[in-house]
Amino acid sequence: MKHALDLNGLTPDLLQRYDRPGPRYTSYPTAPLFNDGFGQADYLERLHLASQRADEPLSMYVHLPFCHERCTFCGCNVVISPRRGPEEDYLDTLERELELLAESLGPRRSLNQLHWGGGTPTFLSPQQCERLFDAITSRFPLTAGAEVAIEVDPCVTTMDHLSTLARLGFNRISMGLQDTNPEVQRAVKRIQPLELTRDHVVEARRLGFTSVNIDLIYGLPLQTAESFRDCVQSVIAVLAPDRVACFSYAHVPWIKPHQKQLDESALPGGWEKFSLFTGAASEFVEAGYAFIGFDHFARPDDDLARALAEDRIHRNFMGYTVMPAADQVGVGVTAIGDVAGSYAANIKILPAYKRAIDAGRFPIERGLVRTAEDELRGAVIRRLICTLRLDFDWVETEFGIDPRVRFADALEQLVPMAEDGLVEIGADGLSVTPRGRFFLRNLCMPFDAYLGAKDGDQPRFSRTV
Ligand code: SF4
Repeated sequence: MKHALDLNGLTPDLLQRYDRPGPRYTSYPTAPLFNDGFGQADYLERLHLASQRADEPLSMYVHLPFCHERCTFCGCNVVISPRRGPEEDYLDTLERELELLAESLGPRRSLNQLHWGGGTPTFLSPQQCERLFDAITSRFPLTAGAEVAIEVDPCVTTMDHLSTLARLGFNRISMGLQDTNPEVQRAVKRIQPLELTRDHVVEARRLGFTSVNIDLIYGLPLQTAESFRDCVQSVIAVLAPDRVACFSYAHVPWIKPHQKQLDESALPGGWEKFSLFTGAASEFVEAGYAFIGFDHFARPDDDLARALAEDRIHRNFMGYTVMPAADQVGVGVTAIGDVAGSYAANIKILPAYKRAIDAGRFPIERGLVRTAEDELRGAVIRRLICTLRLDFDWVETEFGIDPRVRFADALEQLVPMAEDGLVEIGADGLSVTPRGRFFLRNLCMPFDAYLGAKDGDQPRFSRTV
């Protein structure tokens, strides 16, 4: 059966009404609300609480910040090092941080999710990957069936890297690609032939990786609806990824000054940029991919698509995921954890991060302890952004409150969106329409207690569309 995406009613006027700054809700409260009132003592207290859940597995995110050079579009927290060398010292520091965590969490807490992100994790040599993996798993063993994932840049990842990672037990791999079009690649100064990515995908599959993800970005200079459709068709035909994340390029040169190198006049904006995404989404859906949340796609046999069908989908700092763990620890410079009802963000500056660990302290810079109200609103937002529904019965059962009363304001704010055909407000709950899924972040914003009308217009968040 041929699937099709319903794009009816999407118009430039509608887009103009909803294209505004807004959170991506990888956490609630969102990162700009983390504050320096939360520090080492608070984190220790939270880790102590987490240590009492000794039977429950953990999730761990490890940040490996190094890249040989900076891509002009990059929005990540990176440390540019044209030469190898600083990573050895960094690995020493990571080991000490892991040791501090192991001491605080108690003996050999198991991991059901391990994710290495960056930067470029394969800036490490295969031997260094092995060293880090052993440092982690000797303290935090993996559970059977754990999700072990890594982000790689095919331009610097060798076949030796892939075989080492597979032997160690990595089973998911995510490759940055952005766009296959050579002109776009030249415009963003990252040349990555499709054949190179294909060879890495083929080898990863041969080695037994069960899920291959490709990251695309729309909104880059010189992209057109037609060229990006061609890109998506090539990705499907040549790479056939299990998952795709199709991110909106966030042009925030006031935060990421290197983005000023991009030719702003060549950036697609407004309706043109929106059409890049709707065209790409149509291609993926027609090819049989499940549309997950607002920017992910997964083949029906991929765990993420099954999680969607079985209501097990979750959203955290790593994006849309399955298998949420009770606690998620962040390790490395800039890493963020979610531990015992708190968010804890590590220091962003590498020397300061190292100094804290050298002094035997957790390198916590900011964070917050969530209130009961935060937990309620965070759960509601996650439910909506993951499943595109909000059943009022579910809220009542989980939290013992009547959402019609508690969220009367939010429901009122949703009325104009319902009139625009983005959401159906029924007696039993909310249901996002096919048109509304393109504005999912907007539909979550009324439930965000920290987002005043003014805040929504401030440029601390990327645009919602
Ligand atoms: S490889 Fe990735 S993390 Fe590194 S600079 Fe490029 S986009 Fe940023």
